[in-house]
Amino acid sequence: MSKRDFYDVLGVAKSASAEEIKKAYRKLAIQYHPDKNPGDKAAEDKFKEAAEAYEVLSDTDKRAKYDRYGHQAFEGGGFGGGGGFSMDDIFSNFGDVFGDAFGDSGFGSFFGGGGQRRGGAPKGTNIRIKVKLTLEEISKGVEKKVKIKKYVACATCSGSGAKDGTSYSSCKTCNGTGAVRKVQNTFLGQIATQTTCTSCNGEGKTVTAKCGTCSGEGRVYEEETISLNIPAGVADGMQLSVGGRGNVGARGGRPGDLIVVIEEETHEELKRDGHDLIYDLTMTFKDAVLGASLEVPTLEGKVKIKIDPGTHAGKILRLKGKGLPVLNGYGRGDLLIYTNIFVPTKVSSEEKELLDKMGEMPGFKIESEGKQKGFFERMKDYFGNG
Ligand SMILES: [Zn+2]
Ligand SMILES: [Zn+2]
Repeated sequence: MSKRDFYDVLGVAKSASAEEIKKAYRKLAIQYHPDKNPGDKAAEDKFKEAAEAYEVLSDTDKRAKYDRYGHQAFEGGGFGGGGGFSMDDIFSNFGDVFGDAFGDSGFGSFFGGGGQRRGGAPKGTNIRIKVKLTLEEISKGVEKKVKIKKYVACATCSGSGAKDGTSYSSCKTCNGTGAVRKVQNTFLGQIATQTTCTSCNGEGKTVTAKCGTCSGEGRVYEEETISLNIPAGVADGMQLSVGGRGNVGARGGRPGDLIVVIEEETHEELKRDGHDLIYDLTMTFKDAVLGASLEVPTLEGKVKIKIDPGTHAGKILRLKGKGLPVLNGYGRGDLLIYTNIFVPTKVSSEEKELLDKMGEMPGFKIESEGKQKGFFERMKDYFGNG
């Protein structure tokens, strides 16, 4: 069977962003999900096809390989051996794509049964944590060590929940598969449905003697230190999903994911605007008129910039590449310097006398240079629609 192009399968362009690919897959997965199309073989095939395409296109490495070599890149057992793509592989993706939108329980009820319908012990739940980052850390990317309380597999019974790790037997009702198949005759023909085995709750086995350490749960609650590699360029509110680092399921159930929510600390001097940074520079009236060399902060330390003589308040200066890097991409934003002029609110009588004198001089009269551009005209000039 020749395979369709993965981009065609998802209906996206070759240049599609990760977000577009995810969206396209999500739409198809909901449309063709087996629970919404019971007994529909064509829908199931489409569902699998979309999942396989997503598996490749959602992974930067695999996508690059696919772009280069096409389907050949994955022949010979990339997915569960020789082109066979199991439902389990597909569902392992769902955490990334749907985890947040549906939440663990929401997803389960929507698709009927969540982890258990796949057979085996129930999957563990996701853990959400917040990680605070400074702009400096976001600029370079950072490794963060976090302590998390979570369910880990019980060491005594190797996660089985059975005494000595061996005191369990395979469920006789479902022959250890965790699922019971029923064939019904309807006016549409025979329809096969699969339901969770009620004898073993879908786990496929029953514990005959419980492990003493975990009381048969197969897992214990412990603190674990996890090291997170946070890529450069993340932003406040972004969520990174670390597959398989959430709570381990009971009695050998697969672990959930660790969801890391990024929190950005406010910088004392720099404001973020997408990939750009903004700095409000206040200069004296003298520096604005005569020009000066002034210090401005960047994420890599202070730099000096040149202020031209005759610089107005509201002028925007740009330091190229001194902003933040693009996440998973190339290039950096800029540092934009918005200029202000310091206007004193209190002056001594001597200063007032000098200012009065200056104000009478021809160079300081507004008429001396004609009308100067207002704020909105300067903004138009800056953004190039003038
Ligand atoms: Zn069973
Ligand atoms: Zn145990």
